[in-house]
Amino acid sequence: MSKKAIRAGVIGFPVGHSKSPLIHNTWIKRMALAGEYDAIEIPPSEFTRESLDTLVSGGYSGFNLTIPHKETGYDFCDDLDDIALAVQAVNTIFVKDGKLHGTNTDVYGFVQSLKNAAPDYDVASAPAIVLGAGGAARAAVHGLLQEGAPEVRLFNRLREKAELVAESSADPSRVRVFEWDRRNAQAGNSGLVVNATSLGMKRHEPLLMDYRQFSQSAIVYDMIYAPPVTKFLADANKAGLHTVNGAGMLAYQAAAAFEIWFGKRPVVDEEIINLVLG
Ligand code: NAP
Repeated sequence: MSKKAIRAGVIGFPVGHSKSPLIHNTWIKRMALAGEYDAIEIPPSEFTRESLDTLVSGGYSGFNLTIPHKETGYDFCDDLDDIALAVQAVNTIFVKDGKLHGTNTDVYGFVQSLKNAAPDYDVASAPAIVLGAGGAARAAVHGLLQEGAPEVRLFNRLREKAELVAESSADPSRVRVFEWDRRNAQAGNSGLVVNATSLGMKRHEPLLMDYRQFSQSAIVYDMIYAPPVTKFLADANKAGLHTVNGAGMLAYQAAAAFEIWFGKRPVVDEEIINLVLG
């Protein structure tokens, strides 16, 4: 690699399934940039600030963090931007002058993929439902508040976790927490429902939703992309609702991270979405 080559990678455990190396290396090749993007597997017990410093000494200047390192990595950064602080998790790190700067591009990934898949949907027009209270749900809540949602209705199996997400959000007055079992009863006038739980992923139980209460114009968004059509989405399709899976979110969060490291915005197109779904 030449002196100017940029080296980045995704750190996770396990990480072999990650689509990020395929996506980023496709963009590096397309744009004829000097760089590479690797998969770096580090178990939780070995993921420390020192492990990141060792990678930086070895030439890395950018990282994505994936499961289970997004929350731990937050504590290892020298500097956090407003989005990382709001989401309390870091999925992107860039190294400058030896310091680790943390941000979270999942918020952009979520919002941009929603705009792309449902360009006529106005987030400010109706309450939104978010299912879950982990890092992905925090990203969705932050993105929806930022886009002007009048109310975000939050449901999580462990209600206390949802309360914490609401309290620490950018505008707690617009986030209402409900019991997990009440998620169908609160559908009423909501315009969007987002699955940010792990229910529906391969080898997980499905997420069951009763769509009879939803308006026919409601958007049903699942952050999961493997499988591309979960039961949550298949049932919504049967009910005639507009559905969106998580492939766009993964691609757009990657695009934002790529721009931070390489200084150029890559294009998210069908080839990139197919790499996510492949
Ligand atoms: P996480 O922090 O582990 O949170 C998991 C969430 O799922 C929690 O709210 C948990 O509820 C809930 N859950 C798990 N098992 C459940 C069950 N049996 N019944 C009800 N709720 C259950 O994970 P995360 O990082 O936020 O990710 C959540 C999802 O978003 C995953 O499917 C992930 O793949 C997806 N995601 C997609 C993208 C993308 O780019 N497309 C990016 C980030 C995440 P409790 O709190 O009650 O345990």
